[in-house]
Amino acid sequence: MKAAVLFETKGKLSVENVDLAEPHKDEVMVKISASGLCHTDWETMHGFQPVNLPAIIGHEGAGIVEAIGEGVENVKVGDHVICSWNPNCGMCFYCDNAQPILCEVQKNNNSKGVLFDGTTRASINGEKIHYYSLVSSHAEYTVIPKQGAVKIRKDFPLDRAALLGCAVMTGYGGAVYAGKIIPETSVVVIGCGAVGLSAIQGARISGASTIIAVDIIDNKLEMAKKVGATHTVNSKNINPIEFCMELTEGRGVDCAIEAAGQNESIRQTLECSRPGARIVILGKTPYGVEINLPFYTLMGEREIIRTSYGKSRPRIDFQRLSNLYMNGDLFLDEMISKKYDIEDVNLGFEALERGELARGLIIFN
Ligand SMILES: [Zn+2]
Ligand SMILES: [Zn+2]
Repeated sequence: MKAAVLFETKGKLSVENVDLAEPHKDEVMVKISASGLCHTDWETMHGFQPVNLPAIIGHEGAGIVEAIGEGVENVKVGDHVICSWNPNCGMCFYCDNAQPILCEVQKNNNSKGVLFDGTTRASINGEKIHYYSLVSSHAEYTVIPKQGAVKIRKDFPLDRAALLGCAVMTGYGGAVYAGKIIPETSVVVIGCGAVGLSAIQGARISGASTIIAVDIIDNKLEMAKKVGATHTVNSKNINPIEFCMELTEGRGVDCAIEAAGQNESIRQTLECSRPGARIVILGKTPYGVEINLPFYTLMGEREIIRTSYGKSRPRIDFQRLSNLYMNGDLFLDEMISKKYDIEDVNLGFEALERGELARGLIIFN
């Protein structure tokens, strides 16, 4: 099968013919239909996130179950699935504490680039190719833990379904589950990539009356308007803090969501919010970067939440989000900027780097 392999963290992928073994016990082989180009992939390709090499990257995929291993009962061949990058074991300290996103089995194996049994299914000429986020969806096929294969309704188009696997779940969950946004409240979202746009949608669906989108790229702000922002601010030209204060009688917003992964945007998120606000940090800086905040931004009272997957429970939430899309409440068509063949995956990541994409997708036939 064809797969986009990262051999060195120099920013380029190599499309290779890779051997993929059959699924073992409790594993599922998925024929990938679409795989989203996520900023985290880009960070990994450039060495800003830890990774075991060589690896097939991609962690936002959807497709059709091709084969199942022994002991798999949650899906059958032909089912449509979204791949969750947080397959949780259901048995560890964190799973028992209702924090499946922190599953220790997932974390330990993810950090080594292997499946739950400590091995991988992908190889080139017998040389092991690592996994990435237990998904590795920039490939025609993948084999993943059964916990990561989440069945969805068959009338939900698989290209749009892929987006739920990372960006949409993270942004929507960040707004709805972490931000706990309620009707008639004010929200600012700083950073209008796919995660930020999904946070805006979560705020809209939750009934927020004022949704301020902040970015430095005008076409992203146009997108933000299409998916639910009531106001947009290009922070190159307008001070977002002053803008938020003016709209909220000088208090600041009720909920502030950060989706840009910059020290500056994290500080702005705090400064745009009122005392007592909830602050949700979804973006991430490169590992090892220190964040500086003036202490006054913490004064009064703030609840600051950092979450990677929007406090999601994929097996529940992928169904819910699928229904929201099919009911016309969640806008996904608008978020797909461009589709690529696997051979053009590097062009896609270059466009992502230039800020041209809300979401780019690799499409497989
Ligand atoms: Zn666990
Ligand atoms: Zn992602």
